[in-house]
Amino acid sequence: MTDWAWETLHDDLHVGLRRSKVLFDSKTDHQRLVLFDNPTFGKVLTLDGVIQTTEADEFIYHEMLTHVPVMAHGAVKRALIIGGGDGGMLEELLKHPGIEHVTMVEIDASVIEFSKQHLSAICKDAFEDPRLNLHIGDGAVFVAESADSFDLIICDSTDPIGPGEALFTQGFYANAKARLDQGGVLVTQNGVPFLQPDELRGTMRAFRQLFADATCYLATVPTYVGGPMAFGWGTDNPALRQVTDETLQDRFDAWGAETRYYTPAVHKAAFALPPYIERLVIP
Ligand code: SAM
Repeated sequence: MTDWAWETLHDDLHVGLRRSKVLFDSKTDHQRLVLFDNPTFGKVLTLDGVIQTTEADEFIYHEMLTHVPVMAHGAVKRALIIGGGDGGMLEELLKHPGIEHVTMVEIDASVIEFSKQHLSAICKDAFEDPRLNLHIGDGAVFVAESADSFDLIICDSTDPIGPGEALFTQGFYANAKARLDQGGVLVTQNGVPFLQPDELRGTMRAFRQLFADATCYLATVPTYVGGPMAFGWGTDNPALRQVTDETLQDRFDAWGAETRYYTPAVHKAAFALPPYIERLVIP
């Protein structure tokens, strides 16, 4: 009999993934962590029943939350990742030789230990990189108490349920902004606007009050069903979004890395918003 994992994140739509083999199922101090195999997606990680990442499509999410801000900024040296326990964001970010330092603040040490052991296809050896300063704790508390500053902050959170809820508040965004260097940028995972409009609406309301340039950009990630996913974009330097095609291409060529989703043209196109999403950004 076929075994299905049903994601119950959305009230009116349940996503079922075939579970060809359950590899791990345990309760950490913060959430229930399950890893299973799916013939199309490879290993699938869920936390509290919500899909976090899969081996097959993680590159889309991780490339778009790292390379878009890094390429737009052009000189990111110090970055902060909030969440991101599977290590995919860290691995992608560290591909940029200009990055000198990454602080990563993850609330659940078990997700990291687990990912090192079972999701090495995603995190590779990123957790061993000497540029990493790993901090186990609540990202909301970290940005409220830290005196460090960063060119880029990436919020790679779970959905606003359980421990991730604190990472969708006006107070968190304000404290994160205070940790940005001048001209720095904050990017956030903001769910799928068609199914989770309030998530994007709330973040954009906060961003409009905090940043000179507040918007979102989009990418389609197969396992986050319901249309494109939104990534929040907040900075006091509007020039980052106006960077020319030529400059982006020069930066991309100079970097010389092989990507599977990101290109300068995809970067530019990602900021084109269909009206049903734009209305959530600018009501
Ligand atoms: N790509 C994923 C998604 O959108 O479904 C997110 C992946 S990543 C695994 C999310 C991480 O955020 C988890 O490891 C979780 O433990 C962490 N997290 C949740 N709330 C947090 C908080 N308040 N501070 C730091 N990390 C948090």
